[in-house]
Amino acid sequence: MSNFSFPRPTEAAPVQAREPVAGTCDQCGAEALKRYPVLSEGGWFMAVKCQECLHSQTREKWTRLGYVTLLTDSIG
Ligand SMILES: [Zn+2]
Repeated sequence: MSNFSFPRPTEAAPVQAREPVAGTCDQCGAEALKRYPVLSEGGWFMAVKCQECLHSQTREKWTRLGYVTLLTDSIG
């Protein structure tokens, strides 16, 4: 089970602005959390990431972009 998926540096936030989130980073303690969609191998996720160390505080499946779902389905 070495297939643990790390957050990738290739983030794509084409349209949405990064929304500031209150709180501190679990990793480095900075008050630099922002919420924005990120694209990973599993599709789009709405992530809250620290802008200091890029730690992913939270990440949840984001399905607002329907065409991404269609692409995933066509690949199988
Ligand atoms: Zn941090």
